[in-house]
Amino acid sequence: MSQVKHRSEFDPADQWDVDSVYPNVEAWEADFVRIPDLLAPITALKGKLDSPAAVAAVYRAEDELGKIVGKLYLYAHMREDVDLSVGENQARMARIRAQYARIGGEVAFINPQILALPEETIRSWMDAPELAEYRRSLQLLLREKPHTLSEQEETLLGMASDLFSTPHEAFGKLTNADMKFTDATDAAGASHQVSNGTFYSLLLSKDRDLRRSAFGAIYAGYGDHQNTLATLLAGSTKSHVLNARVRKFPGALEASLFRDNIDPSVYMSLISAVNQALPVFHEYLALRAEYLGVGDDLNVWDLHTSIVPEVSLTVDWKQCREWVEASTRPLGPDYQRIVESSFTERWYDIYENKGKRSGAYSTGHYGEKPFMLLNYHGTLNDVFTVAHELGHSMHSWLSQHNQPFRYGDYPIFLAEIASTTNEALLHDHLMRTQESPKLRAYLLNHLCDSFRGTMFRQTMFAEFELEIHRMLERGEAITADAVSKYYYDLNARYHGPKVKADDRIAIEWMRIPHFYYNFYVYKYATGFAAAQLFARQVQSGTEGRDRYLGFLKSGSSKDPLDTVRDAGVDLADPVVLTKAVDGFRSAVKELRELLATSAV
Ligand SMILES: [Zn+2]
Repeated sequence: MSQVKHRSEFDPADQWDVDSVYPNVEAWEADFVRIPDLLAPITALKGKLDSPAAVAAVYRAEDELGKIVGKLYLYAHMREDVDLSVGENQARMARIRAQYARIGGEVAFINPQILALPEETIRSWMDAPELAEYRRSLQLLLREKPHTLSEQEETLLGMASDLFSTPHEAFGKLTNADMKFTDATDAAGASHQVSNGTFYSLLLSKDRDLRRSAFGAIYAGYGDHQNTLATLLAGSTKSHVLNARVRKFPGALEASLFRDNIDPSVYMSLISAVNQALPVFHEYLALRAEYLGVGDDLNVWDLHTSIVPEVSLTVDWKQCREWVEASTRPLGPDYQRIVESSFTERWYDIYENKGKRSGAYSTGHYGEKPFMLLNYHGTLNDVFTVAHELGHSMHSWLSQHNQPFRYGDYPIFLAEIASTTNEALLHDHLMRTQESPKLRAYLLNHLCDSFRGTMFRQTMFAEFELEIHRMLERGEAITADAVSKYYYDLNARYHGPKVKADDRIAIEWMRIPHFYYNFYVYKYATGFAAAQLFARQVQSGTEGRDRYLGFLKSGSSKDPLDTVRDAGVDLADPVVLTKAVDGFRSAVKELRELLATSAV
């Protein structure tokens, strides 16, 4: 770590242009003190939202406030993340966070007050010219009306919300703080520390003894707490079921999907499409067994490690830029021009420096550049990360430049589509242009593994999540035994006859935090599926490309399912989801052929 340089040692051209948000701290302070003035016109309308003009005024004031507060937040967190050790940056961030909480409380009256009006009144305002820009906001609000309770009941539920999140919090405390794991041992007898944080990287190891040992250590730790963990999961699941019942939804699944207006049939189609594709997945696992040299003994700790040799390749930033730019060619000249400016106008914070936040993300705010924090070291994986984050940033840029402030952000359901599409385009570009068999094998393995981790694994999780909610809805209890038995069979069905699963995989559900998120993981799988299809579509011609660009420009101006359908991918159609797996089928085939040539 000692060779990690200080931030000041880098060329500012390689760092994001935070000065374009505010030229200096004083400018930030000047906006910060405006918050009370921006809040005043909103609170002045409390109890007075009785006409289209008043609602338009409150929404407009809310937008004006949001524009400034979001900008203040962007600057504060950009400054903080590039050097987490600077107290002044942390203090600025704490101040804007506190304002967020305060503002949240102050504006909380708006929607309930509108919803308290008779439905006919809200409906009659829909076509009021003052509210033209806010028509969709009102429509969304009106959808919620049948599931909104009386003011007293809402207050009660609001007061209990902290209580409902206790199981999830306790899960976090137990598994991250209280739980202890024994060390794992590698083939040479050396010890390795096991934690939730290191477990995955241990499973990626080429050393099979280490993988097996890490698996044993993790599951011994969890196994000691199975009754507690079952009770916590039951508690969290019960809160979802209760919320669905009191809000008059047919079930917990329907309640969770309601916000995005996703029909439950999409969820069911995903499950059935992935189940149909399991034979291809099993072929891939057979290929895994063959190239890991484990014969008929492929176990659950052999599913993550790469089956192809490492590619020792360092891609400098210039080369990375060339590849990423070339890969976006199918998206057309307009898109490419913006991509070019991302490199010349300092959207990226490229290199690691002392104190910088780890990982990578895309961030931004309406009217600002969509910045990307990277820790670029030049691995092939890093190049894919750049393509991924740029996908997010371009989605933000295009949505914000084509939508009003209120609909400028895309919803979570759509969040990973643009990023994954750009990864798929980079994959295709490199497969077209790179001849090294080693590199090609790496790319194919990377793609197969993304399918395994995103389409297959997340859908398996989605199926599990549905079952535990249904257990409660059928009046059955969630116990460690009942859930583990179900999970073992589910895991066996997904992985097929080739995997001789260690019995302890039955308790894998105990360590997955997402099972507390109320039907979240399926979005990873639908997003990934849509991205595979979009990547193919944009390479098929300008019509497909333009429809996809329409998706990137639409922000949250339509329901998520309509947004992707209008762009050419109908996620409610099971056949469409089945087609998404075609890319996996051909990647497995190509990888098998390539590995057989022994050039790898
Ligand atoms: Zn992402």
